[in-house]
Amino acid sequence: NLVHADKPNYIISTDATYPPFDFQDKNNQYVGIDQDILKEISKRENFTYTLKPMSFNSAAQLVSNGQADGIIAGMVITEERKAVYDHSTPYYKTGVAWIVKKDTKIKSLKDLKGKTVALKTGTAASEYGKSLQAKYGFNVKYFNDTDTMYNDVAVGNSAATFEDMPVIQYAIKNGVKLKVMNADNPGNAGWYGFFVKKGENKALLSAFNRGFAAIKKDGTYDKIVAKYLGANQ
Ligand code: GLN
Repeated sequence: NLVHADKPNYIISTDATYPPFDFQDKNNQYVGIDQDILKEISKRENFTYTLKPMSFNSAAQLVSNGQADGIIAGMVITEERKAVYDHSTPYYKTGVAWIVKKDTKIKSLKDLKGKTVALKTGTAASEYGKSLQAKYGFNVKYFNDTDTMYNDVAVGNSAATFEDMPVIQYAIKNGVKLKVMNADNPGNAGWYGFFVKKGENKALLSAFNRGFAAIKKDGTYDKIVAKYLGANQ
């Protein structure tokens, strides 16, 4: 297409189901805080992209092995990831929640001894959960997506799970029958970023950062967050 010949087209991977950051609306369009900011930044920075939704772990690997140019997926900036990826300006603050079934007898992490904890492969929350395993003596079981992981707790197979606070809070607001045990005290506070492979795609990363600065400045970013989470964030 001649009209767009001057625009770069990037391959961007994402988590297929990570509301309120990445998910499909009822018309099967990808929406959410991440998707809306990416779309807005691409317009302002004059690039197009092909979105590749999949499991979070695969989406992250697609970038580290060079099959995608960038990833936006509610992905936390961590020390381990800095060795593999370059990241954008941090755009959303998060922390880890530990989560149980609504009508459970579990009151503290100590009650998880000998029980199974559901974790999502490749996530920062799973690393956090894993770091508590020896101390509290639970077993772990891995899932590729958040919904299946929540369900394993809701039906009583797993006794608990770990997931990012804004993600579980949004799910509970939307009817998931689970409860957060540490709402006032999230573990491992961190920030979400957009990532490219370390040393690669510098133009894309700069475009993201420039576009992000612009949408922060003119209020577009706040409007996007408010659209999904309400105005008091
Ligand atoms: N926030 C978590 C991480 O950074 C999980 C991301 C996700 O599951 N999409 O690892």
